[in-house]
Amino acid sequence: AAKEEGRNCVRAFDRRMLESDVGDTLTAKMLRSAVADRRISAVFQPIVDVTTGLIWGAEALMRLKDAEGRPVSPETFIPVAERTGVIVELGEWMLREACGLLAAEPALPIVSVNISSRQIDDPNFMGTIEAIVRAAGIAPARLALEITEGGQISGNPRVARLIERLSALGIRVWLDDFGTGFAGLTCLSELRFDMVKIDRFFVQSCDTPRGAKLLKNIIDLVGSCAQRTIVEGVEEAAQVELVASFGVDLFQGYHLGRPMPKHELVRRLADPPAVA
Ligand code: C2E
Ligand code: MG
Ligand code: MG
Ligand code: MG
Repeated sequence: AAKEEGRNCVRAFDRRMLESDVGDTLTAKMLRSAVADRRISAVFQPIVDVTTGLIWGAEALMRLKDAEGRPVSPETFIPVAERTGVIVELGEWMLREACGLLAAEPALPIVSVNISSRQIDDPNFMGTIEAIVRAAGIAPARLALEITEGGQISGNPRVARLIERLSALGIRVWLDDFGTGFAGLTCLSELRFDMVKIDRFFVQSCDTPRGAKLLKNIIDLVGSCAQRTIVEGVEEAAQVELVASFGVDLFQGYHLGRPMPKHELVRRLADPPAVA
């Protein structure tokens, strides 16, 4: 797994080196027309409470096709969308999509949406969110915004104020990918999140005693700050079993369901509980 990770790092690094401004500009143009051309879509990955086996919520994830109809990975297009600022438009589209699904499906408790720091920096962000939630007519507490730990988050009074305003409205704010960045711990001490999502790296290295111990300690650490936890990236039943023994009940990962189109998620909502 470490080797695989290493190779991915090298690949990502090479790609970044090769990316030119020209490449960014072309991709940005392609991204900007993606909404109008219907090349953008949303999929939803279930978050399951394994004590009941029921779908507790879902994470909205963006999908994109290029002009030839070929899928482009978020790991490729999200960074370009962020660098070029197009993420502000795409992110707004995503929020509408998520709130639309919540309005159509009262049985779906919560949908979370990833928010990038470019959106947080946008002075219209708060107004945009409020307008979208109001137009959808949903309870604000059914929407969660996932933000990723990073330099822009901790020690930034604007972000702290934004989180306070969102919380005052009832919108949930979650910390995503906990443990992978540099600022995770300072984020936890400075800001009040409704949820902490532990990055899949930790569950995917918990098949050794050392990895398992590390994950348990991270879970305890998050719990000691009185924060709830979702463990991301569970691919096997044994991982769920182990991590549930550490006191976690909310999970997300291929073992419990891949990201799927909304009609499939809706169908699964009506299913009897999966075996926990
Ligand atoms: P993320 O927010 O951490 O989302 C979870 C990612 O892990 C998703 O990748 C999901 O498909 C993947 N995943 C879920 N379960 C498993 C598993 O069991 N094993 C493995 N190997 N992977 C799993 P995806 O959809 O490719 O998205 C990658 C990243 O792109 C996201 O990471 C998020 O940071 C970003 N992203 C996706 N959609 C959006 C969006 O609408 N807005 C923004 N700002 N970022 C987005
Ligand atoms: Mg996320
Ligand atoms: Mg994220
Ligand atoms: Mg994540």
